[in-house]
Amino acid sequence: MIRKDVIVVGAGCAGMVAAIEAERSGAEVVIVEKGLPGSGTNSSLSNAYFAGPCPKRDGECYIIDTLCSGRGINLEWMVKIVADEAPDGFSFLRGLGIRLVEDQLGFGVKPRDPDVIPGIALVKCLVRALKKCKKVDTSGGVYVREILKNADGAYGVRGYDKKGNEVVFLAPAVVLATGGAGAVYSRSDNQKSIVGQGYYLAGKAGVDLFDMEFVQFFPLVISDPGLPSLLLYPPYPSEGILINKLGENIGKKHGIDDFNDAILTLRDRFSILLYEECLKSPVYMDYRRVPERVWKKYPLSIFRKLNFDFHKKPFEVSPASHFFMGGVRIDREAKTSLSGLFACGEVVGGLHGANRMAGNSLTECVVFGRIAGRNAAEFAAGKRTPHIPESNCREKADGLANCDRGFLKRGMEAIKGACWKYAGVVRSGRELEEGLFEVSEIERSLTKVSPIYADRIATENLLSAVFVLKAVLSASISRKESRGSFYRSDFPVQDDINWRKNSCLSYDGVNGRFSAKYLPAETSS
Ligand SMILES: Cc1cc2nc3c(=O)[nH]c(=O)nc-3n(C[C@H](O)[C@H](O)[C@H](O)COP(=O)(O)OP(=O)(O)OC[C@H]3O[C@@H](n4cnc5c(N)ncnc54)[C@H](O)[C@@H]3O)c2cc1C
Repeated sequence: MIRKDVIVVGAGCAGMVAAIEAERSGAEVVIVEKGLPGSGTNSSLSNAYFAGPCPKRDGECYIIDTLCSGRGINLEWMVKIVADEAPDGFSFLRGLGIRLVEDQLGFGVKPRDPDVIPGIALVKCLVRALKKCKKVDTSGGVYVREILKNADGAYGVRGYDKKGNEVVFLAPAVVLATGGAGAVYSRSDNQKSIVGQGYYLAGKAGVDLFDMEFVQFFPLVISDPGLPSLLLYPPYPSEGILINKLGENIGKKHGIDDFNDAILTLRDRFSILLYEECLKSPVYMDYRRVPERVWKKYPLSIFRKLNFDFHKKPFEVSPASHFFMGGVRIDREAKTSLSGLFACGEVVGGLHGANRMAGNSLTECVVFGRIAGRNAAEFAAGKRTPHIPESNCREKADGLANCDRGFLKRGMEAIKGACWKYAGVVRSGRELEEGLFEVSEIERSLTKVSPIYADRIATENLLSAVFVLKAVLSASISRKESRGSFYRSDFPVQDDINWRKNSCLSYDGVNGRFSAKYLPAETSS
């Protein structure tokens, strides 16, 4: 059993920033991560682009742009905090040795080597900074499966180490920084392990989830069998075209001449039309006309590492899940509704409303990561955790039957397929109902699961994915309109009179169901 002032769960950009800031605010910290800090995070896969106020876009324009993307349901106070505190956040990153280069809309991390994904450069710097923190312990290889709480609030977490043995961490303050859930979809550009564990942990602890129906899909992601589901990073060369099996030029057909512009201004429409084209025929990115010299530069240079000649051979692409706008709600101090539980990063909902403006996630990670770390440290100061007998912290291994590993794998595949089919780019009332029926069938089959130690983590991942799919379907079913990233073919128009609202899901752990309500969006004060 490990006792600290602050526990941070998740070592992506948000978690590492929170841990560093908590230490600077005087706390003893442990950062608990199921992989190695930084690796296996979406932060490491990212383009490391930070939107924000900058000399070419002042704070007011940044706020307007963010609210426009969010289609009127962002939490405006969050947008204003990010606008106010982003410049300090960027200085904080620079202070850690991160090279940020300014452009029209914000700042990008520029690795010296063009073959390196900028996100890798970002997390490497954060990991280096974390290692220098004398009062931050890192507990890699621990999968958190429960937030410990009593009548006063959260006081620790319980998890499994790599062998499936139980481990317990106690602290007066816990920061949830577990990222999103993009990989619950069969088509996704996220790290495979990002299946919404934070939403599941929060839901089980009685914390409500907001806006879970809003999932952002990225239009251009590699879908060629045998190749990784890698997002095609902008900027796109103007010579690249999208074609289908018949050789039709898909961009031209839909009036999209410039993919760089479409990614920024028409992302949802671009995803929908590509999704619909992909139902008819595979769609290929054709880079054959791109000049040789362009291949040496980022981002095309990244392809050199893959065993496929992207320059000579068109390859299949399709939209894929990219980002979860919804999540737990926090206040100005990054506190959730459960005392002692703080949250930051993609696991939090509110800033982005119905759709996220490009680059706004990492800015949120830095701004609210710092706020969460600072306030968690302040909250923990002088507080003690309850005494727990050591014997209560070890679940007995006896009685756990062997589990068919193939069964867990098949269960996960079924959930991912159901996510894509029923809760994907284009939804409808009938499909959402069918999806809820199918997920309850899958869930029923899981009651038989009683895994051996090594399978405990796979089981928890599967339960998280089931939970997330149910949350997305439950929040989608009553929203009878389309807004931002959320598109219903049976209600294709945005309806501000009835639906300028945020969804709020409460989870009942006994019957495994969500109850949904819709709250009027907060307007500016
Ligand atoms: C391909 C791609 C490119 C992107 N590019 C950009 C960009 O340029 N700009 C931008 O703003 N956004 C971008 N995004 C989005 C952005 O990268 C993510 O939203 C952001 O990195 C999330 O950071 P995070 O710290 O919240 O979560 P993550 O970086 O995903 O880290 C979460 C960590 O929590 C750990 N964890 C989860 N559950 C548990 C558990 N139960 N126990 C222990 N550990 C756990 C995970 O292992 C992981 O390490 C991109 C996303 C993708 C997929």
